[in-house]
Amino acid sequence: MLQTEQSSIMKTYNRFPLTIVKGEGSYVYDELGTSYLDFTSGIATCNLGHQPPRVKQALQQQLDQLWHCSNLFHIPIQEKLAQWLTSHSVLDEVFFCNSGTEANEAAIKLVRKATGKDTIVTFRQSFHGRTLGALAATGQPKLQESFGTMLDGFVYLPFNEVEALDQLEDIQPGAVMLELVQGEGGVRPAEQVWVDKLVELCKTLEILLVVDEVQTGIGRTGTLFSYEQYDIEPDVITLAKGLGSGVPIGAMLAKHAVSTAYTPGDHGSTFGGNPLASSAALATVEEVEKTLAHGKRAGEQLVNELLELSSTYDEIQEVRSRGLIVGIQVEDASLYVQKLRDRGILVLTAGPTVIRVLPPLNVKKKEVKRFIEGFAHVLEEVSS
Ligand SMILES: *Cc1c(COP(=O)(O)O)cnc(C)c1O
Repeated sequence: MLQTEQSSIMKTYNRFPLTIVKGEGSYVYDELGTSYLDFTSGIATCNLGHQPPRVKQALQQQLDQLWHCSNLFHIPIQEKLAQWLTSHSVLDEVFFCNSGTEANEAAIKLVRKATGKDTIVTFRQSFHGRTLGALAATGQPKLQESFGTMLDGFVYLPFNEVEALDQLEDIQPGAVMLELVQGEGGVRPAEQVWVDKLVELCKTLEILLVVDEVQTGIGRTGTLFSYEQYDIEPDVITLAKGLGSGVPIGAMLAKHAVSTAYTPGDHGSTFGGNPLASSAALATVEEVEKTLAHGKRAGEQLVNELLELSSTYDEIQEVRSRGLIVGIQVEDASLYVQKLRDRGILVLTAGPTVIRVLPPLNVKKKEVKRFIEGFAHVLEEVSS
């Protein structure tokens, strides 16, 4: 294993002491060939597991056709992907980019131009990305400090607090931007009553609703997009993580009335939605659609088993989930992540006290079982 001191890579990440060289299905392998059950899915990215055959086939075919030509040309596969996304959502047009933070930048610029207002309301403990606009949108001061003046115009309200929404009338923002399940912020699903009031206020006060689906999108929460479960119609959504099965691609989708604010020259991306990335994404979304019901059931199985464990082990303070994004509230999440890794199981944290479990949507029953057995052993160790 490479020692951090020898690495030529900037130290922006605290990496796990593990080198991954291969992935297949729900498993990844280190350089010695040791297998690990991967319940991180590359941070909610490889939603069909590693090397999903149909996506691989689409990429292989595209490799023989065209890799890149820039958005100065018509690209049929990108057009097809955009049609798929708009026909499976309440949005009408798509802008393609390469990552979640870029999708949010595209959304921030769009709603600023569409409304003529700078102010956007976001929520505490949210996460919208690391570039300066998306970072300013992120309601976590500790990520912003040391980087100078943040982009103006963001106002942060507490998440899930119904009363606090009354401030929208005074703030008069152009848009509200939120995750319906805060991912990095600790796997916190928005409550329906809160969302209902928010949407109602957006309607009466003519505020655009932007839903950041970068982590929740592409089947992660049991439906293609998380907004479907709240029975709401956002004006804008942003996508990235799960969209390309690990091939970098992001997207910002908007209703026609909003998206027409962008005219040629307003925004762009050299790579955005290039043929290679679009081919991976189209095959991914088509496969994910067929896997939704299975993923939802797998999420229920996983959560039921976790709730059963929580009746035996007080160490589990709470289990929060939507589909296959699962958060387990404990005292020290890193301890569990490390002990599970020692048992060949990979999971993540979401803050210091939440274990974040993100299996692929096509996870097998026996793989969920294996995770639960491993977790039970770890709980036994920690509790004794
Ligand atoms: C990961 C994430 C982002 C940032 O995506 P990148 O591809 O890392 O830029 C933005 N919003 C949410 C909700 C995320 O989970």
